[in-house]
Amino acid sequence: MAGTAPFDRPYVGRFAPSPTGELHFGSMVAAVGSYLRAREMGGAWRVRIEDLDPPREIAGAAERQLQTLARFGLLPDGPVERQSLLQSRYQRALHGLLQRGLAFRCSCTRKDLPTDGVYPGTCRKNAASGRPARSIRFRVDDAELEFDDAVQGPQRQNPAQQCGDFVIRRTDGLIAYQLAVVVDDGSAGVTEVVRGADLVDSTARQILLQRALGLPRTAYAHLPLIVDAHGRKLSKSEGDDPIERLPTPAALRLVLRALGHEPPGGLRTLDALWAWAEKNWNLEQVPAGPVSIGVQGPDHDDYT
Ligand code: GLU
Repeated sequence: MAGTAPFDRPYVGRFAPSPTGELHFGSMVAAVGSYLRAREMGGAWRVRIEDLDPPREIAGAAERQLQTLARFGLLPDGPVERQSLLQSRYQRALHGLLQRGLAFRCSCTRKDLPTDGVYPGTCRKNAASGRPARSIRFRVDDAELEFDDAVQGPQRQNPAQQCGDFVIRRTDGLIAYQLAVVVDDGSAGVTEVVRGADLVDSTARQILLQRALGLPRTAYAHLPLIVDAHGRKLSKSEGDDPIERLPTPAALRLVLRALGHEPPGGLRTLDALWAWAEKNWNLEQVPAGPVSIGVQGPDHDDYT
């Protein structure tokens, strides 16, 4: 049962936004869902800023994201980590994988790669073959991997068919998300990853990296994807987003609704909503999704 999922170590959950913009409705669903799950399990809830990709970063976004979390009353247990300050961790992991032959240098350029996105193994055996190495890839075998997602149900993925040997250090020298997320979750002792369903397809790759790095396997719960009234992934266009548009308690009520929880109408303050949510939270009620944000929210005036 979700509430009694066996964890053989103290529960640690986390929320890990990339500072590429404001926290939009979908991100707040992940923040609130991961937070309530950590509270349910009597564990810690950590926040990590995934600022490993300077070209995609928006100046000041990380600070504004933390302010938004605080405005909702979401305060992390322990200090906020920033991936940009953790480079030596990733270098150690890379080095180890290369030394053990689990990763290899790849000299392919974009032109060498097929359009279906599945790496054909070109540099697997014969690394640089006279050409300069560009990226580093993690070697994957052609095998199906199964895991049980606490919200999405049983999953099967075969990374060899999804993407082939995948990049863990990019051509521009930056550490790839897949490696950083696994190293950091491992080092923070994360027991369960609760995040948006847009990342479910990355999970098998991350489990393979956990194994290769000798890290304990985490559990997974992927929260519903939030779509607009037309079923499209929510755009980041400002003004539309309830997180910006509504008073905070009204926005929190909508987030809880997207997570399958409907607080009684009389609850109008953040404190009252959180008290109700912590008491009534049940992961089994969370829909697999997608969830449309088109459902009319509470009236703005109810909350001012
Ligand atoms: N940084 C990723 C994002 O903002 C989330 C990573 C994760 O939760 O694993 O989409």
